[in-house]
Amino acid sequence: MSVIPEKYEYQFVCPLPNGFHARPASRFEQLVCNFASRVSVQNLSNGKIANARSILSLVSADIKQGDECVLKVVGDDCNVAYQELVRFVREELPTCDEALPQVDESRQETFVPHVLRVAGVEIVPGKTVVSGFGRGRVVFVKSLACPVELDDSEVVDVQAELQKVDEAIEKQQSDLKVKLGAGGMSTMERDVFKAHLSIANDVELIEKIHSLIEEKGLCAGKAILESFSCFSDILGKAESVLIRERVVDLRDVCSQLLTQIYGSTANDHIVLTEPSVCVADDLTPSQFINLDKSLLSALILTQVGSTSHTVILARSFGIPTLTGICNIDGHLAAGQEVVVDANYGFLLTDINDQVERFYHRRQRHHDLQQEQINAYRDRPAQTYDGKRLEVMANVATAGEVKAAMESGAEGVGLFRTEMLFLSRDHAPSEQEQFHEYKTAAEFAAGRPVIIRTFDIGGDKTVNYMQTAAEDNPVLGCRGVRVYKQYEDLLEDQLRAILRASAFGHVKIMIPMVTCIEEVQYVRSVLQKVQSKLDAASIAYDADISLGIMVEVPSVAFFIPQLAEVIDFLSIGTNDLTQYFLAVDRCNGQVSSLYQSRHPGLLGIIRKIIDDAHQHGLWVGMCGEMAGQVECLPLLLGAGIDEVSVSIPYVNEVKAGCCEYDSTQCRGLLQQAIEAKTPAQVDAILLGCEHHGSDRSVIDVSLVDLEADCVSKQEVIQYVTDRLCLNGRTRNCRGLEDDFWKRESVYSTGLGYGFAVPHCKTPHIRANSICVLRLREPIEWDSIDSKPVKIVIAMTIRDVQDAGTVHMQIFSKLARSIMHEDFRRHLETIKNCDEVVAYLHQKLELGCE
Ligand code: PEP
Ligand code: MG
Repeated sequence: MSVIPEKYEYQFVCPLPNGFHARPASRFEQLVCNFASRVSVQNLSNGKIANARSILSLVSADIKQGDECVLKVVGDDCNVAYQELVRFVREELPTCDEALPQVDESRQETFVPHVLRVAGVEIVPGKTVVSGFGRGRVVFVKSLACPVELDDSEVVDVQAELQKVDEAIEKQQSDLKVKLGAGGMSTMERDVFKAHLSIANDVELIEKIHSLIEEKGLCAGKAILESFSCFSDILGKAESVLIRERVVDLRDVCSQLLTQIYGSTANDHIVLTEPSVCVADDLTPSQFINLDKSLLSALILTQVGSTSHTVILARSFGIPTLTGICNIDGHLAAGQEVVVDANYGFLLTDINDQVERFYHRRQRHHDLQQEQINAYRDRPAQTYDGKRLEVMANVATAGEVKAAMESGAEGVGLFRTEMLFLSRDHAPSEQEQFHEYKTAAEFAAGRPVIIRTFDIGGDKTVNYMQTAAEDNPVLGCRGVRVYKQYEDLLEDQLRAILRASAFGHVKIMIPMVTCIEEVQYVRSVLQKVQSKLDAASIAYDADISLGIMVEVPSVAFFIPQLAEVIDFLSIGTNDLTQYFLAVDRCNGQVSSLYQSRHPGLLGIIRKIIDDAHQHGLWVGMCGEMAGQVECLPLLLGAGIDEVSVSIPYVNEVKAGCCEYDSTQCRGLLQQAIEAKTPAQVDAILLGCEHHGSDRSVIDVSLVDLEADCVSKQEVIQYVTDRLCLNGRTRNCRGLEDDFWKRESVYSTGLGYGFAVPHCKTPHIRANSICVLRLREPIEWDSIDSKPVKIVIAMTIRDVQDAGTVHMQIFSKLARSIMHEDFRRHLETIKNCDEVVAYLHQKLELGCE
């Protein structure tokens, strides 16, 4: 006689601060698997019922803290299962998790230009990691894909595909068990691996993959992808962030399954067919390298820090990049045309006529700006008082060296050779490397090329160099620290570099040096390789320089000792900042703490440079800080010999350099080091004197007698652009904002067809007047309601001794406008020079 199973139900309230996410779900599921009974959990707040044998099903029920739930147990061993599960819910579940640390939500405030504010389009704020703007169609780069060749393939031998899946799952499970058994992991890491193991073993996932193969005739890979998208859709809709983020675990598991079955997958080779904006959670450096840059208009990445390697690469290719956009999937559809504006830090999802016009003007402004900057291409960089600064370029391939030289770089300050090692199954051969380095040396044509030996580890991993799992890879086996283990690779590389040194001016640089023994070790390998080359009569530069990167803060404190074994230093601020401030450079959540203008960081940088110089060492800087033009006076003040920057910044840095006086910069750096906060350092930089602060109030380039502006918003933007091109401001955004602050109090339309927008602002370097005669009159809310035809925009420096200049000029101007002959004259005057002379006379302008 069959026994009718009893029904056991237990109602409880979810106690978990982060909801029933993967880790607690995994523990619950493991317990359930000890029994034969069917166990379900229903979330009464949304009605979803989960199969408790499936971690995915449990997580998908979207159970948040405080949700009422019902546990149901049905089956032969329900009595004992019920007792045990209720005990778990009461006693263990509350201890399964702890509240997440508070995430710092502070982000840069997004400034939206007034032209776009009135354009009636959706503006989605983000955070700029690489500036610029780009327009293209959205391409989602999913982290999962099948090999390309499967796209058109017909399926299938169902049994064979099922077997592939089952074998991959079995292999994955055994790999995970080995990892879990190996020890040496943090609790968090263990929990993640356990969650992966549960997902890899998940009945619903496996059932779904099987049924897609059996019923839909899909191949193994496609069945995995479809199952992933089915469950990730469910998880993605969860209210709890933590549950939504579990898509990452699922993706990891599915990605490993695909790799087990196919080796590499199609996402290493994303094909773009038109100008595109790629949207991804994250992009590995190798995925980025494989993208066609001629069609890559912009990137939107969910998870990045401003100096992660993909971002550095994006910067070197001038690819505008945004991050920090909330709910990106909710804003975008694949194929949709969008504008990524990483100058202002937002995404535009609608493009109307005003937007078209705005970006047409931005492009023109950008081109004019580039033209000015490119004028520095063939000039060496030097300060106003004649102090030289070498400006070199950072590259990752020999091809880029050509572009760098064409852009005016004086050499290569950092060749990141590890990029040659990524995205492949084995290290590049000596011959392949030799060819690359030789080409680089030849392109540089006698200018220095600093080749950094491979810096693998951290966020740059390769599968043919296996190191044991590490709790903190960035503090573990990376850079020079792996060389002993891979001495054959180091030898190959040094041999290739030495051979290339016969074809140009090549130097060698070691990454991630912590102690002198590491340098001595590399030098000993170098000498061994040199002896072998001598024996084989192969030419190389016997005087080749050997230098190190200063990335580990302790190095700053034993430069005298290091000076005995090295020839030069280059400060790697990306890592130095990370290690000195203890802020993960790739973690967007702590990016507000990753501050180049931290007074302490500036102090250590000055110390490094001072100590290096005292011991006769040349010192450069090749981290991203070197290309931040706003930091330039600080670096000049510290007496840096060289900066090595992404190619697009070479001439910008050269142009910036000649605006400063090195002695003043030294004082400025001292003030910055004594400042209390990075914000104070910014304020010090903002107030610093530039060459040109004493220029005349108006000159011809600030006059346009045919201005093509159709609104007040366009006029104010055009004025700030003109002032920028004239070198009078580096902060158009701040300046525009200051104009509008005044304009929002009262309209500056003085009547008679004249408007006088004005502001007192720290964002202008010299008191300035800009005159526009408009092609067509525009509305300005003037006091006499008449449209405006002539704009006289006035900007006055907001510095301590600014006095009353502002009011004096303004009242003279207002009085003049009352006179008909003044107005008539400006309405009919024929050329810009006359305007300048006339205003000088009428407003009694001198040099400020
Ligand atoms: C640095 O750390 O500043 C640096 C230039 O090296 P990478 O960014 O490649 O780590
Ligand atoms: Mg580094």
